[in-house]
Amino acid sequence: MSPRGWAVLSLVALTVALVVTAVLLIPWHRPPAPRADQLAALGDLPAEQVARSREFRSALRPAGWAAIALGLLVALALGLTPLGSRLVELAGRPFGGHWAAQAVLGGLAVVLVADLVTLPFAAWRQSVLTRYGLSTNGWSGWAADLLKSYAVSAVIGALALLGFYTVIRLSPRWWWAFGAAGAATLVVLLSFVLPVLVEPVFNRFTPMEQGPLRAQLMQLAARDGVPVRDVLVADASRRTRAVNAYVSGLGPTRRVVVYDTLLREATPAEVTAVVAHELGHAKDRDVPVGTLTGALGAAAAVVALYLLGSSGPLLRLAGVDSVAQPRAFPMLLALVTVAGLVSAPVQALMSRRVEARADAHALALTGDPAAFEAMQRRLAGINLADPDPPRWEYLYSATHPSTVERIAAARAHAREAGR
Ligand SMILES: [Zn+2]
Repeated sequence: MSPRGWAVLSLVALTVALVVTAVLLIPWHRPPAPRADQLAALGDLPAEQVARSREFRSALRPAGWAAIALGLLVALALGLTPLGSRLVELAGRPFGGHWAAQAVLGGLAVVLVADLVTLPFAAWRQSVLTRYGLSTNGWSGWAADLLKSYAVSAVIGALALLGFYTVIRLSPRWWWAFGAAGAATLVVLLSFVLPVLVEPVFNRFTPMEQGPLRAQLMQLAARDGVPVRDVLVADASRRTRAVNAYVSGLGPTRRVVVYDTLLREATPAEVTAVVAHELGHAKDRDVPVGTLTGALGAAAAVVALYLLGSSGPLLRLAGVDSVAQPRAFPMLLALVTVAGLVSAPVQALMSRRVEARADAHALALTGDPAAFEAMQRRLAGINLADPDPPRWEYLYSATHPSTVERIAAARAHAREAGR
């Protein structure tokens, strides 16, 4: 069988593995609370808070969608016309057009152009966050964060580009197979090292202060059977008033992180509800499962890019002879951009199901639906979340159940527990 035949077979196998993983490991059987209960929860929220949140979200919306639309347009313009390949050539010219210079500098140049075009919309977003009092870091802090994130992306991107095009040169016929394995490995590696190498670039993490709350949280984790070495506090207040918590990392790098803003704003019972939700993620292995689906998706993407990218019409549009050239990178990036936008609703749906399971875990673990509901109200109030966002936006991009869904679920839990 030809390498192309093997690639088709591998893509089918990876897609089947991805679907089987998603079907078996994502908690699909978790229908949202009835709409009537959600509307009742919405009616109980202060009307002015709901109005202000909606005003804030409406102010953010144009910048968000414009950035997505313009990002797509630029990716298509660079990838499906010879513009991008010329940019790659130009970036490699000072180095005699060496393939490594084209691969790394050309690749980064293409990504940078796409980033710079959407920069005004990022600034627009920041100005809205400032106007509504959510941002605390000022323009200099915002710019510093932006530069840091460019630097981090450039380092990771340069390594990935150099690795990818080295593999292509070493194995011109089977690079897609090694590339797929490499992409999957990179996803696992990143999930492992991000909390220790990248997150500290943006925030300082300190172990939670000794005291009754910390003791209570560690006890909660022990009762849950989730070994937690520590609860870390992130100095999120340096850039935002928003409250949040998360789990990240794998094995020895796994951690539960709470924002310092959360500790400042919420009652101990509410913080406990948040941490119980995060323990749910840890107990159900949501980070490893997410890493696994991400790794399978990345491997499938590389094989699909090889197959799609070899198509004559696409190559002609991009003005290149072969998908294996660094000059074809803008075309690959355009395909990845389209795939990301198309798959966003599926990823959001999977995320919402996983989040709903963590909520159910928190309710069962704490047995305190009242604190859970109070926490949801506070979260929505401070973060100016639309408690019941427009349906289309929810379906396309909501990674969490809406506030009214979460409150309705807590009330359903309370009813069931009281029975
Ligand atoms: Zn969560």
